[in-house]
Amino acid sequence: MPLKFFNTLGRKKEIFTPIDSKEVRMYTCGPTVYNYAHIGNLRAYVFADVLCRTLEYCGYKVKQIMNITDMGHLSSDADSGEDKMTKGLLREGKELTLKNMRKLADFYTEKFKEDLVKLNIRMPSGLYYASDLVKEDADLVKRLEEKGYTYKTRDGIYFDVSKMPDYGALWGGKRTWSEEGARVEINSEKRHPEDFALWKFNPKIGFPSPWGQGFPGWHIECSAMGMKYLGEQFDVHTGGVDHISTHHTNEIAQSECATGKKPFVRFWLHSEFVDIGGAKMAKSDENFFKLNSIIEKGINPVAYRYWLLMANYRTKVNFTWKALEGAEAALKRLYRLYLDQGEAVAGNVNMKYKNKFKKYLEDDLDTPRALTVMWNVLKDEKVSNADKKATVLDFDKVLGLGFENLKEEEIPDEIKKLALEREEARGKKDFKKSDQLRKKINSLGYEIKDIGGGYKINKI
Ligand code: AMP
Ligand code: ZN
Repeated sequence: MPLKFFNTLGRKKEIFTPIDSKEVRMYTCGPTVYNYAHIGNLRAYVFADVLCRTLEYCGYKVKQIMNITDMGHLSSDADSGEDKMTKGLLREGKELTLKNMRKLADFYTEKFKEDLVKLNIRMPSGLYYASDLVKEDADLVKRLEEKGYTYKTRDGIYFDVSKMPDYGALWGGKRTWSEEGARVEINSEKRHPEDFALWKFNPKIGFPSPWGQGFPGWHIECSAMGMKYLGEQFDVHTGGVDHISTHHTNEIAQSECATGKKPFVRFWLHSEFVDIGGAKMAKSDENFFKLNSIIEKGINPVAYRYWLLMANYRTKVNFTWKALEGAEAALKRLYRLYLDQGEAVAGNVNMKYKNKFKKYLEDDLDTPRALTVMWNVLKDEKVSNADKKATVLDFDKVLGLGFENLKEEEIPDEIKKLALEREEARGKKDFKKSDQLRKKINSLGYEIKDIGGGYKINKI
């Protein structure tokens, strides 16, 4: 089956082939590092990770670039509101300097990277600070200026959307994806409400430029970075659905107008939101959880990854602790099934299951169905233990649930002793006592399974 993705540009599933037959070039909009990422944000990166892994599973090499937004992102995705990094510095009582901004960025970038590791998200091929590419941003603005796409207002240099006939093709003229992204602030000096800033002046803090001190617009950083590392045209661009109507629409406009090449990107893929209590999880609304909140509750963070994979990336999901606990229980059962295959090694990947698994992923990353295939192979008595293990490890190259490092845990002596006592009680047909001991073992977090004349202790 050919590999197909739902392309937001055109809003339909399309067969995927990269520009360069050997390597897929892909850009992922990264986090704004003025605060911790919340688990909603992290969905965008779990999705991009599964996408990269799927492309590799299908035989492609992938070059994935991600930006770290450490400047210029205002609280609205359009050009109004407070600068998020400034907000972060004020919140932490730090003086407003570029040096402090970088320190803030360093701190939250480290935290972000730690989250990626905990979720088995592989590092992109390149992860760069936006503020390290200010020159590239300014060069791109200059190219647009020379071609007559820009004008100046008191607060910045703007892109005139009326100069681009098919402006807004990504959202098809209907702002239906995101209320927040659609809000375009009225600025009386703008020629059209959708005109957007390429450079914003800031007398207090910023970088020098031919137009005055300030910051590049948020959108330009992704165009400039994408072009620098992936070329003026590339294969895939990912982000959350809130990027469609403003950020990505504007990236397309400024990139295609600067280079004169269409399309800037062939496939635009967007992951849906994680809601909480029926509303979007958002840093600004303070209705969010960090990954560490999950860990503090004693839940394996990979269970969050598993929970996300239970839905297609284009389906909105509503986070509840109960749902996450359900996912953790399922993941533990899956781990247990795998470990119960014993020490068998050197098996072969079962091709019947692999073909199914791949077919589902090729259909716009149908991870819920792909997970079912993993369950089914583990439960199939006709498949040998060694082959089951080999097949699961093969599937896990995409799903990233951590089977590779899964080991039977050492059972504490205290539990082993209780199990032995229980065995003795059973031998004496003292079932009351053996039952009590079983319950005690359970209460300590272990279970006993009776197998073929013996027994096995597992951690629950
Ligand atoms: P930010 O750090 O605000 O720039 O956002 C980082 C990523 O998180 C972007 O790709 C957003 O589209 C995405 N995002 C923000 N809120 C949510 C949410 N509630 N659920 C899923 N993704 C989100
Ligand atoms: Zn971006």
